[in-house]
Amino acid sequence: MASDFVYSQPVRIYFGEGKFASLGEILDELGAKRCVVACGKHFAPEAEALRGRLDAIVGVFGGVEQNPQLSGIEETVRLCRKLQADTVIGIGGGSSLDTAKFAAAVTLGEGEPLEYYRGVRPFPAERLNIIAVPTTAGTGSEVTQVSVVSHGTEKKTINNPVFMPRAAIVDPLLSSTVPPRTTMNTGLDALAHALEGYWSRNHQPISDLMAIEAVRIILSNLETAWRDGSNREARANMAYAALLGGLSFALPKTAASHACSYPLSEDYHLPHGEACAFTLDSLVRINADERLEYLCRAVGLKDTEELAQRIAALKALGGLRTRLSDLGEVDLGKLCRDCAAHPLMNNNPVRMDEDALRRMFEALK
Ligand code: NAD
Repeated sequence: MASDFVYSQPVRIYFGEGKFASLGEILDELGAKRCVVACGKHFAPEAEALRGRLDAIVGVFGGVEQNPQLSGIEETVRLCRKLQADTVIGIGGGSSLDTAKFAAAVTLGEGEPLEYYRGVRPFPAERLNIIAVPTTAGTGSEVTQVSVVSHGTEKKTINNPVFMPRAAIVDPLLSSTVPPRTTMNTGLDALAHALEGYWSRNHQPISDLMAIEAVRIILSNLETAWRDGSNREARANMAYAALLGGLSFALPKTAASHACSYPLSEDYHLPHGEACAFTLDSLVRINADERLEYLCRAVGLKDTEELAQRIAALKALGGLRTRLSDLGEVDLGKLCRDCAAHPLMNNNPVRMDEDALRRMFEALK
């Protein structure tokens, strides 16, 4: 019998090769008249060129870094306030999208970004429009109400409806320049979203459908996109799968692999996707149950063990770090404590306390 659920997805999604070329028409359609672009340095020259071409683009902050810092948000907010922007367009990987989302949410408030980050002020009732344009196939941030922002060494995930984009433009051609290593990291991030959305304690049937399809597509396309970044079919399939991955965890949220990714990124500086992948195959084995077996058969695998092996093989192919010894000197006690304390750990179907985490990490020595 079908179980009860509540499902909603408010983002208008424009998907397809070449869609980004219609940015001007899409901005008209959305009534966006004064837009500030937030992007990283790989896209900054193109964003400046767009500003020359489209009247609706009035400013560019081109300094978003990986694991975006609050300082980049402060600069974007200053620009938005000065230019009286009505929209922030994030163009780039998750770092640029999350910068745009946070800046749009706080620009119209009285306070400084740090006060909202610390939670000492509630987010303002009014916000700017957010348009998210992913250029990596990974985070799914274009369809989530999450913004992940760092302040110094602290990396914080803030989950709030104020971050939900109004629209997403997913154009696979934008990902054709992503280097192989980032292709693998981000592709495995998308796989982690789909699997974690599926096995999250808050899983629900519509999200499950998208998770299964995302896993199927990623397993058949990630290696090709990694080997040959100019393969349009593989890039398009990965862009679609990453979008589905985002949709599949947007409501259920992620679980243990994402919980562990935070200490692994903060203390050992792994990029987000690599940090999620570090424990993903271990967790497939730990979380193996009838539901996960069903997913494996639905995507054409024999069983959960084959899924774990496929993930390990992709990690090895991409040259990702897979053993604790690859991380330098590891404080295992602190790592287990920090992972266990992360709120996303509570979504994992199998209870992962410090002892269980220690057993998992010991096997990765
Ligand atoms: P990223 O945005 O940090 O980008 C990685 C690198 O790739 C950067 O150097 C960037 O300039 C470069 N790059 C991006 N697109 C490119 C392109 N088309 N060609 C060449 N280079 C390109 O990486 P990411 O993995 O996309 O995002 C990671 C961030 O997103 C982390 O901070 C993570 O915590 C966050 N995240 C957010 C959500 C969410 O729902 N908000 C979900 C997952 C992850």
